[in-house]
Amino acid sequence: MLRSLRKHLGGKDADDEVSDRTANGNSTSPLRQFELLKTLGTGTFGRVRLVRQLSSGRYYALKISKKSAIIRLKQVEHVKNEVSLLSRIDHPGVVNLVSHFHDDTKLYLVMEYVEGGELFSHLRSAVRFSNTQSMIYAAEIVLTFGYLHSMNIAYRDLKPENLLLTREGRIKVADFGFAKVVETRTWTLCGTPEYLAPEIIQSKGHGKSVDWWALGILIFECLAGYPPFYDDNPVQIYQKILSGRFDMPRSFNSDAKDIVKQLLTEDRTKRLGCTRGGAASVQEHRWFAPLDWAAVRNMKHEAPFLPRVSGNGDTSNFETYPESVDGDSEPPLSAAERALFDDLDRM
Ligand code: AMP
Repeated sequence: MLRSLRKHLGGKDADDEVSDRTANGNSTSPLRQFELLKTLGTGTFGRVRLVRQLSSGRYYALKISKKSAIIRLKQVEHVKNEVSLLSRIDHPGVVNLVSHFHDDTKLYLVMEYVEGGELFSHLRSAVRFSNTQSMIYAAEIVLTFGYLHSMNIAYRDLKPENLLLTREGRIKVADFGFAKVVETRTWTLCGTPEYLAPEIIQSKGHGKSVDWWALGILIFECLAGYPPFYDDNPVQIYQKILSGRFDMPRSFNSDAKDIVKQLLTEDRTKRLGCTRGGAASVQEHRWFAPLDWAAVRNMKHEAPFLPRVSGNGDTSNFETYPESVDGDSEPPLSAAERALFDDLDRM
């Protein structure tokens, strides 16, 4: 399936040109400390670029978002959430936010650069992953979700495009644009069609339960090479999800079939991970029986695959995107619009 078919409901269509200069030409902007290199990916409001810090020579991924697009798509709160949550999270399974700053027209997140590329690209080249490889990636995600959920954070955007591989072959979750602190349930429509849980489509409110549903989709997609509910038309995808019917490939072993079935349970009160025990009950599923959980927790397990990384600034694991021409055409924001981002300075 083409990446372009997997659009965010938030709209990945924002004009994503980014200027190589701060919009106000401010010579004291923190942006000046970086050399802007290749585009690593495009996001909802802009793009992510590899940058090199001039003073240290260190590489980072710089997520550059246009404030005008954020406002237009009514995502100001989501973006602030991303900054505030990432600032609080410290876990090897999550991309580390190093710092953030903003100028009159853009917001910048300086993140550790994860060189191995998206799991999405590796899955598409491999077509499908073996049972063991899928199990190890799923296990890493279970531990990361366990950590996030223990902080009452629902991630809400699991998919192979948001999973990055380190050069050691470990998974890091990127893009916390939809993550949210949830005490019980929450009601915003967000996510990517193929990975949406029935309770999101039905606006029944959704919290951590959607992460376990999405894990079921991910395990299926890793093992099969395609997601269980798929159609060119998102409305058809929703109908298929709500029908609850999907074909389990015969190549799945019986434990894999069972964990997928238990995670893709429409009734949240019965879904694996959502019952008492949370992430621990997922860990206990027999599909994971061959796994040494302590080794995974201590990052001592053998990685299923090592991406080829030739040096610190190597971008060969990322797709090539057309680079932006100078984007000074960014409209200036009104004082009221600028004020929407003021509290970023206090995060
Ligand atoms: P996002 O808007 O956060 O989903 O990022 C868009 C794309 O940029 C991702 O799918 C990755 O391909 C790439 N990307 C984001 N963060 C990083 C990072 N820390 N290191 C390397 N690539 C990244």
